[in-house]
Amino acid sequence: MNHITMNKEFKLVFATHNKGKYDEVKKMMPGNINLLSLNDLNFKDDIKETGKTLKQNAKIKSDFIFKNFRINCFADDTGLEIDSLNGMPGIYSARFAGKTCNSQDNIEKVWKLLTGYKNTNAKFKSVFSLNINGKTFFFEGKIDGKIIFNKRGDNGFGYDSIFIPNGYTKTFAELNLIEKNEISHRSEAIKRLIIFLDEQKFCKLK
Ligand code: IMP
Repeated sequence: MNHITMNKEFKLVFATHNKGKYDEVKKMMPGNINLLSLNDLNFKDDIKETGKTLKQNAKIKSDFIFKNFRINCFADDTGLEIDSLNGMPGIYSARFAGKTCNSQDNIEKVWKLLTGYKNTNAKFKSVFSLNINGKTFFFEGKIDGKIIFNKRGDNGFGYDSIFIPNGYTKTFAELNLIEKNEISHRSEAIKRLIIFLDEQKFCKLK
């Protein structure tokens, strides 16, 4: 592995078009990491998520970017798993209500399928795949909570407005970014990724 001096800029691509996710992760990155998004690479296409698991999908995306741009990168795949729906939408979270659906459509589909269930327990799971010089490393995070049947809060994205983390009374969309980053599935996985970068001397923890 090529180690670099800690203070030196380390260029890393986060293989996402999602500005909400990029902003969340960027806020957590140590200062010497120059975090680029797919927009910064002028890459507008969607990388097809043809895997059967979050891990496979994350790896497909990080491999694709490394292969085509030769820049170290990481990608995530996240799923909302609802107990009463046998873990659905899971890997289909983004396109749960169909190929051209938006977050509102996805939320309505969740509500429809969950109608009549008392148990609305759910979890967000994130898997990050980091590709450094062609080698892959995985980092995972999860948070348990429950789904509610009305939308609350304007922050965040996706299913944030209908998900209340355990131990909280607010939805993810009612928490600010700092509060969400303290506990979220993605931040847990990202913290693990950053500890790895620190151990490998690509960055220095603040
Ligand atoms: P992806 O891994 O970015 O494809 O995310 C899958 C789906 O889960 C998308 O519909 C996202 O909007 C949603 N999602 C991912 N992360 C979060 C989150 O932190 N809160 C709410 N929804 C999320």
